[in-house]
Amino acid sequence: MSYLNIRGLHKSYGATPIFTDINIEIGQGQFITLLGPSGCGKSTLLRCIAGLTAVDGGQILLDGEDLVPMPPQKRGIGMVFQSYALFPNMTVQQNVAFGLRMQKVPAAEASKRVAEVLELVELSDYANRYPQQLSGGQCQRVALARSLVTRPRLLLLDEPLSALDARIRKHLREQIRAIQRELGLTTIFVTHDQEEALVLSDRIVLMNGGQIVQSGDAETLYTAP
Ligand code: ADP
Ligand code: ADP
Repeated sequence: MSYLNIRGLHKSYGATPIFTDINIEIGQGQFITLLGPSGCGKSTLLRCIAGLTAVDGGQILLDGEDLVPMPPQKRGIGMVFQSYALFPNMTVQQNVAFGLRMQKVPAAEASKRVAEVLELVELSDYANRYPQQLSGGQCQRVALARSLVTRPRLLLLDEPLSALDARIRKHLREQIRAIQRELGLTTIFVTHDQEEALVLSDRIVLMNGGQIVQSGDAETLYTAP
């Protein structure tokens, strides 16, 4: 059985259906890209998985357990947004430690874990800086560290590279992939950029108009007649 199994998921905003029957299976440790045009429902799907918005039906089984009835903080999910969403009045170290404070992890253990993830994203020397003193790429690495420090069971990346310039984008995508492999972390990476999807993922899930239209590895999807 697959590690993440989304079955018959549907979601409307008011009377507007965004998607009505989403089915996706992902194996443990897999990195999949959810690729589709702007507005097709990718962010909404991630927000449903994370519990940031309520679903109208269906199941989200993670390791055999349905996430739908669970509050977001119990789901064990890490999420990174295009906009970084860092707290401007907190240092890098405080931003990363924030999720651990919420989980009441003891201080000594928390600082050890924060130091570990800052090393992983190569920001150990920036622990006492504030977000406005960092570049966009560095901010996104802080956001990544903040999501990893809670040791999530599933990582959701919502267009994490879109706000960055091309050179940084390429470097950071390699770094994200290397970290994901090292941690064996099951990951969904959302993008509207076909090239990004092609170079990054084990499997691409194509979404359009609120539906999964195709799914497979890059070769199968793009060499088919
Ligand atoms: P994508 O991530 O693929 O760009 P979204 O999931 O952000 O797509 O949006 C899908 C559709 O849902 C869009 O038409 C968007 O305007 C709409 N939408 C997103 N969030 C809301 C909301 N909170 N209320 C109403 N409509 C929304
Ligand atoms: P993205 O495409 O990067 O996911 P959007 O610009 O679609 O972001 O949405 C930004 C925010 O606005 C989100 O919180 C989304 O839920 C909300 N939103 C988007 N479209 C609508 C809408 N039609 N009505 C209400 N809220 C919306």
